[in-house]
Amino acid sequence: MTGLPAVEAKNVTKTFGAGPDAVVALDNVSVTIQQNEFFTLLGPSGCGKTTLLRLIAGFELPTAGSILLEGQEVAHLPPFKRMVNTVFQSYALFPHLTVAENIGFGLKMLGRRRADRDAQIEKMLKLVKMEPMRNRKVHQLSGGQQQRVALARALAPHPKVLLLDEPLSALDLKLRKEMQIELKRLQHETGITFIFVTHDQEEALTMSDRIAVMSHGKILQIGTANEIYEHPVDRFVADFIGETNFIEAEVMQRIGNRGQIRLPSGIALARELDPIAPVGGKVTLAIRPERIDLVKPGADCQLAGKVENIVYFGTDTHFHIDLDTGGDVTVRVQNRRGFQEVLKQGDAVGLRIAPEAMQVLKD
Ligand code: ATP
Repeated sequence: MTGLPAVEAKNVTKTFGAGPDAVVALDNVSVTIQQNEFFTLLGPSGCGKTTLLRLIAGFELPTAGSILLEGQEVAHLPPFKRMVNTVFQSYALFPHLTVAENIGFGLKMLGRRRADRDAQIEKMLKLVKMEPMRNRKVHQLSGGQQQRVALARALAPHPKVLLLDEPLSALDLKLRKEMQIELKRLQHETGITFIFVTHDQEEALTMSDRIAVMSHGKILQIGTANEIYEHPVDRFVADFIGETNFIEAEVMQRIGNRGQIRLPSGIALARELDPIAPVGGKVTLAIRPERIDLVKPGADCQLAGKVENIVYFGTDTHFHIDLDTGGDVTVRVQNRRGFQEVLKQGDAVGLRIAPEAMQVLKD
């Protein structure tokens, strides 16, 4: 290990086509991915995740900006010279080859000697727990087993970086959960940097060391799952990652980067504020549904409303509350005995929200 970042994208722009039909797939994207990280690119369809992956792999070249692998600019390097491997959603296994032959394919292309290849194939079969199936053909394997072979084949040459483009999306939910744990284990055991692409926020939150949230060719936020969930930078991130309630508040006064804001209920709070939020202007607060407590009306609370709808989910219950001041919020309460157990549709309730659970968003 060199101690240098595994991958850096510096001011990368990628445009497809020209003239009025041009598509800007990546718009001045910069990101640094450290060695041994499980790093996820997360965003809705079309936001540019795959394009960034393809630029790192070398299947495409940037229109502007540069890609560095371990500190070296790689524009001149074709994919096979980059020490980067890719696992595709479709697995792209060779149907006429056995499991072992598939795993050894890349090693053969690299000109490794037979004894080396065989030893590495054995190691990989063990790593992905497929030793008993080494002689099966691809069509004799389940989807999950094919996925393991695709992973073993990509890991066999021990690349510095493994790129994974929605590799679990073809699996059913149960298998998908199993493979999430399996992928984490493989990353940990091999020490290879994983760059994982998904549009599934839950998958990103549970698997990643860090996540880059993307939208329309830009990276909006980079951080750990906790940072992104607890402190989303803007409305898009707050909305895309988990469920969020948005409430407008008015800036009453400010001193430096702190100020007083007023909730629609008239209650004032001291908050850190964006330097651009003027006195008299509006700010949006993001509040997670599980950070709101339902209390008796009139009790010490920040907002008040009426229960509009109750949905039971086994471990928790979702209450949809119409606020007295207009708008509505969702409150998620764990199913323990308490005040919420006696609530029914139409009941008046108070909403208690800790000040730190109200995140002021950039607009
Ligand atoms: P998905 O989750 O659907 O795969 P994505 O986030 O990976 O989406 P990209 O595949 O990177 O998104 O695409 C980003 C944008 O660039 C899209 O608008 C897409 O239509 C466009 N695009 C991607 N590849 C090409 C291409 N070869 N030619 C023209 N446009 C392209």
